[in-house]
Amino acid sequence: MYATVIIGGGPAGLSCALTLADGEKRFEAVRGKRFAVVDSGSSDALKAVLNNVPGIKKGTTGEEFLQALKSQVEEFESVNLIDGEVSEVFGKKGKFKIVLSDGRELEAERVVFATGFHSFNIKTELVEVIPHPRSPRPGKVALRPKAEGVFVAGLAAGEITMIATACGSGVDVACKILEDWNGKVVVGHDKI
Ligand SMILES: Cc1cc2nc3c(=O)[nH]c(=O)nc-3n(C[C@H](O)[C@H](O)[C@H](O)COP(=O)(O)OP(=O)(O)OC[C@H]3O[C@@H](n4cnc5c(N)ncnc54)[C@H](O)[C@@H]3O)c2cc1C
Repeated sequence: MYATVIIGGGPAGLSCALTLADGEKRFEAVRGKRFAVVDSGSSDALKAVLNNVPGIKKGTTGEEFLQALKSQVEEFESVNLIDGEVSEVFGKKGKFKIVLSDGRELEAERVVFATGFHSFNIKTELVEVIPHPRSPRPGKVALRPKAEGVFVAGLAAGEITMIATACGSGVDVACKILEDWNGKVVVGHDKI
């Protein structure tokens, strides 16, 4: 049983995983918890060259950026990065089932949808699909959680399509989940 399964391994999903996993060294309630990111490999960032992402060297490709983020996440043994496509999610807080198109199944206490804004093909009653409120092009989608223990991050949450906001949204969702476990507001800060 995973503490949280994140569906989508773009900037939002990976940032969420990084912040959750980093919680283990700070909060007793996070120790021993396991996380998974399931990704089908079509992040918008893979098409980008980055000249305007805060703190990122001009000309860095989105692929290089994602690989760096993935490497940060891979430093945590508590996170399992899974290549695959989620086809169905059901259940309730504490016991969600995540079914992949190749038949693999995962169980999770919480689930995060970070699936981008192009389309949403996962069979589930756990989110409502709405028109994306801030897309530069028509026909894009966003999601609204319909059940406890369900979160959305990045473009799927209606964020503007910029790397920094996608990452920020993933971090914000992770902090909300950490708050849930700790019973109070938490942040992940380290001093020099
Ligand atoms: C050509 C281009 C250039 C860009 N340039 C810039 C730029 O210069 N600066 C900037 O700030 N932003 C730029 N962006 C925008 C930036 O790439 C996006 O805002 C960012 O990638 C959004 O992150 P996300 O994690 O919300 O969604 P995404 O990056 O789209 O990630 C969603 C992930 O979910 C996965 N997924 C979806 N459904 C499933 C499923 N059923 N099962 C498993 N996985 C699933 C997808 O494979 C994907 O990896 C650019 C985008 C494009 C297309």
